[in-house]
Amino acid sequence: MKILEIDSLTKQYASVRALNGISFSVEEGSICGLLGPNGAGKTTLLRIISAILLPDSGSVKIAGKDHGLHLSHLIGYMPEERGLYDSMRVEDQIMYFGRLKGADPKELRATMEEYLTLFNLQDDRKRRIKELSKGNQQKVQFVATMVHRPRLVILDEPFSGFDPINSALLQQVIEKLHSEGTTIILSSHNMPSVEEMCNDIVLVNHGNLVLSGALDDIKEANRDASQLLLTTRKPLNLPLLTSSGPILNIEPTQAHSHRKGFGYLLQKRDDASNGEVLSAVALQGEVIHFEEKLPTLAEIFIARTTGMEKQNENAGTVTA
Ligand code: ATP
Repeated sequence: MKILEIDSLTKQYASVRALNGISFSVEEGSICGLLGPNGAGKTTLLRIISAILLPDSGSVKIAGKDHGLHLSHLIGYMPEERGLYDSMRVEDQIMYFGRLKGADPKELRATMEEYLTLFNLQDDRKRRIKELSKGNQQKVQFVATMVHRPRLVILDEPFSGFDPINSALLQQVIEKLHSEGTTIILSSHNMPSVEEMCNDIVLVNHGNLVLSGALDDIKEANRDASQLLLTTRKPLNLPLLTSSGPILNIEPTQAHSHRKGFGYLLQKRDDASNGEVLSAVALQGEVIHFEEKLPTLAEIFIARTTGMEKQNENAGTVTA
């Protein structure tokens, strides 16, 4: 089932067209990464999904229903600019946000207890927000975002301000929410985290949709078939390999199998087959791992957002 369906959304601020007819959908239970360069329109999009902002045109459906404030209990939104009341005590703050979503106080308290424990905040419950470290304030913001148990949790740069230990803790909590069936939209410039956690990706630029769909499919569709990774048991004589034959270029890189060995990134000639490449390398030593290179998310992001206008002429959108 689709938890979120966005159709032809537009939003204009004075002379800036922040969203330019964006359409995509998100499956219930997925972790979807929302990516885009600064100013791409992500915050505008997230505010519309959270019913904080109205679009100029287009529609948003949540769990199959036309969106509006009456559905805001289904959504938990943690904005990049955190918004807590400095003088409020931690538990009052969390309960306040939960009650704004109309949730049952008994259930709210039980969920709050669960998450205060998960985030090691039990001893801070009576402290005022301004007395907490920035990282602990951020944890409180997260708990306040999802204390009413929303079906769709939207996190804008959730890792910013966290040390590596708390980032790992937050990642575990997000994975726990995911395992319970909650859908998560994660907007972040931290490509390795998005790559590790998200199964689906939406990439926007200049208010337009660039890509959407399963991360594995997007990687496959953006693969450069001429790039290969291999690991050999012994080092190779590189000048000898590139002097003629199927290999255009080869350079050392990390080994690509869990076994010890010597790793190489290799570019084959356009007309060469993988078999020809393997035969040429095998003349020098045993190959213990061989694969076609898939692009990283960061490589796709850069390739598809730099000179996007030019690329849009040549490449279609991968849809889920
Ligand atoms: P970032 O990654 O830097 O947070 P973003 O992808 O979230 O960027 P938005 O904040 O949605 O992008 O902004 C999209 C465009 O709309 C930008 O050009 C921005 O300057 C403009 N914009 C956003 N909010 C307003 C506003 N209230 N008034 C005028 N222009 C705005």
